[in-house]
Amino acid sequence: MERYTLKNLVAMLRSRDISSHEILEMYIQRISEHDSSFNSYITLNQDAALEQSIQADRLIESGDPLPLTGIPYAGKDIFCTQGIKTTCGSKMLENFIPPYDATVISNLNNQGAILIGKTNMDEFAMGSSNETSYFGPVHNPWDLARSPGGSSGGSAVAVAAGLAPIALGTDTGGSIRQPAAFTGITGLKPSYGRCSRYGMVAFASSLDQAGILALTAEDTAILLESLAGFDPMDSTSVEADVPKYSGLLNVSIEGKTVGIPKEFFDEGLDAESEQVFLDAIKVYESLGVQFKDISLPHLGLSVPTYYVVAPAECSSNLARYDGIRFGYRHDEIDDLDDFYLTNRQIGFGAEVKRRIITGTYVLSAGYYDAYYLKAQKVRQLISQDFKKAFQDIDAVMGPTTQTPAFKIGEKIDDPVTMYMNDIYTISANLAGLPAISHPCGFVQSLPFGLQIIAPHFAETELLNLTHLFQQETDWHQKQPPDLNEA
Ligand code: GLN
Repeated sequence: MERYTLKNLVAMLRSRDISSHEILEMYIQRISEHDSSFNSYITLNQDAALEQSIQADRLIESGDPLPLTGIPYAGKDIFCTQGIKTTCGSKMLENFIPPYDATVISNLNNQGAILIGKTNMDEFAMGSSNETSYFGPVHNPWDLARSPGGSSGGSAVAVAAGLAPIALGTDTGGSIRQPAAFTGITGLKPSYGRCSRYGMVAFASSLDQAGILALTAEDTAILLESLAGFDPMDSTSVEADVPKYSGLLNVSIEGKTVGIPKEFFDEGLDAESEQVFLDAIKVYESLGVQFKDISLPHLGLSVPTYYVVAPAECSSNLARYDGIRFGYRHDEIDDLDDFYLTNRQIGFGAEVKRRIITGTYVLSAGYYDAYYLKAQKVRQLISQDFKKAFQDIDAVMGPTTQTPAFKIGEKIDDPVTMYMNDIYTISANLAGLPAISHPCGFVQSLPFGLQIIAPHFAETELLNLTHLFQQETDWHQKQPPDLNEA
């Protein structure tokens, strides 16, 4: 089964080798044939999508298409979509049909893209394995017994398995980069404020960021041009020009300086993974990049800091799911207290409840200073580590994860082990920095990812480095074995 890049599809549409209607039919067919093995989609938008493809073909015929006219994309089920169910992977929102579109969804639709379906995810984006979804786990196409990572696992699998050319995800602590690494694709978390959060169901508002899962840096660049930009509806979105990312991919990277933090190699990274990463570094060296050992002294504190800040914000954000304003409403109740208790007891899964309890605790009067305030201070120190490092270097590189994809069921009963999954990715969220993961080799016959972190709003740098790496290597073109026969 051939996986098409966004760039390919645009070219094929423009040269009339294929129509948008045929493209949509092809993906819908693939999903109906193969997604029962993966469980990557929660809701399909097939009727509306097919209808839109007919209009797209008319626009192409008229000779005046928009940049993304007729191109299908998948959206994580965390983005509000007008008239289309948006569950956030939760029973709480099982029947929620938003009255409006998230800005990132309208940004893509306004450029002619067609939403093909909503992808599976960890409940309210809390998880690293897609096992906390109310709609069941997502299976990794490289080995169905393994997790594709999370929380944007459905989006990652849709792209990796050729069930969508490109997908939207969100990343609060690693939820785009880790699943991209586990499924052998490219995943970009833009800078905080680069893409609007309006209409994106909030988990931890100071960390959440919408981003892209794609086959290549080139596709990521093309999509980001439509996705990014200031939104008056999101007070944290930044008024900064959106560069023409796709025009800056081939700028020479000779003489760039990249730092490798020694803390990434402290413990937990096995020898094979380290070797794969070091081999990838050699490719960058051959392109003229210079490497420097650096230290980010507070990096080791990023997981504990995140697991104070994120639950604190989640406990507040999720207060709105009470069965009145939003969410599941149980029929049989005794009184008002019972109403709240029962709705939230039944509507939320175990991990979400764990986070709400933790968050409520760290914000409570007696513990606020000891936990929440301290975490905010450490967050500042982590930001400063990066700021200092970026005085001498253009970017930071390291592995995206310590291991390749783990087995479904392997870590779900041990939250702390699960939380450690994001040890390399969380610091970029705490500091609001843009970061990308791209395939860089195989470990135990499974895809392995390399992460690059850049200064604020230097997405161009990330895409440029990744693109030139992808011109020298073919890791990003490797596709899951069974797809070759499908
Ligand atoms: N795995 C992290 C968590 O469970 C990050 C999730 C995310 O980025 N949405 O909180």
